[in-house]
Amino acid sequence: MRDLLALTARPGVISFAGGIPAPELFDVDGLRAAFDRALADGPAQRALQYSPTEGNLRLRELLAQRLSGRGLPTTVDDLLITTGSQQGLQLLSTALLDPGATVLVEEPVYLSALQCFQLAEARIVPVPGDAEGIDPAALDEIAARERPALLYLVPTFSNPSGRTISPERRRALAEVIARHGFWLVEDDPYHELRYRGEREEPLSARPELAERTIYLGTFSKVISPGMRLGWFRAPRELLRRVAILKQATDLHTSTVDQAAAAEYLAAADLDAHVRKLCATYRVRRDAMMAELPAITPSGTTWTDPDGGMFVWVILPSGADTDRLLPEALRHDVAFVPGSAFQVGEPDRSALRLSFAAHGPGTIAEGLRRLGKVLSQ
Ligand code: PMP
Repeated sequence: MRDLLALTARPGVISFAGGIPAPELFDVDGLRAAFDRALADGPAQRALQYSPTEGNLRLRELLAQRLSGRGLPTTVDDLLITTGSQQGLQLLSTALLDPGATVLVEEPVYLSALQCFQLAEARIVPVPGDAEGIDPAALDEIAARERPALLYLVPTFSNPSGRTISPERRRALAEVIARHGFWLVEDDPYHELRYRGEREEPLSARPELAERTIYLGTFSKVISPGMRLGWFRAPRELLRRVAILKQATDLHTSTVDQAAAAEYLAAADLDAHVRKLCATYRVRRDAMMAELPAITPSGTTWTDPDGGMFVWVILPSGADTDRLLPEALRHDVAFVPGSAFQVGEPDRSALRLSFAAHGPGTIAEGLRRLGKVLSQ
């Protein structure tokens, strides 16, 4: 998969494969000013120095305010800054998973989370679901049988499915999780990228889950993935253990990047920037939705995401998207085959498309190329 995806970077290929933010939307001027301030006379020595493992205090204060405003009451002592939320996934896997421990996941599941759980030698068990998310009754039954260590979910605008768990499901799932008492890992990188509908409260905000939830966030999708800044919100005792693991891993996340992010949050209008991102991505999402009916064979279905970056397409049965990808690359278009995101025997008829990185004209051209491959 890594080799095939490397080919998607070839000039001329229209890639719907990566979940990467549109580079033309980065706030370069705002960030340059934030780095300048971080390196301005007084604090310059501090911004270039080693710093505490838990992360920049001012950044954690500003983040705590932002999360509390999202309906997730948070203080600085609930937060650890991580080197991207990917590091959060790796740290919690080390902290919570012994070899053979059971991890429950939705299917399809975010590939790099799966890798962390596999490296920890966990047993990974998918929980069945539908368009509204995983099924609470199935979760109840599987949890009783498997005694899982944790459940991993991307409840809002999931990667790779684009699916969002409905409010009723959230309530029902919270009840099941609280009753069984395993950890919920709520991975929420796309929360702010909503293009329609009402804001969903994070599952971690539910009082019955207060002591059993790890909430992972990141600046990757709204500020910059290259800065590698994420956060880990968890009960104090787990946070202390994770801080010790992080210390052993990288001592701390880049001091200067954290200082610049704090300057940026304090001075720039991140909400206005997010509104700009949403306005652009909404048009791209709509362009992909408008083209899909014309380029897919009858019997194809796809998710209709309210936000995020991804559409999950299921071709009529018998299709094999692993075999379609090299053919698509010959036509200068790329996607990720669905088998990459599945745990058991993969359904090879699925594929993931990301609409974030291209304007509507390029999306239409890329889908026209994909349509040619599909019709062959
Ligand atoms: N979780 C999910 C569901 C993601 O889609 C991503 C980014 N692709 C990450 C975690 C990792 O993000 P970060 O850049 O913060 O490490």
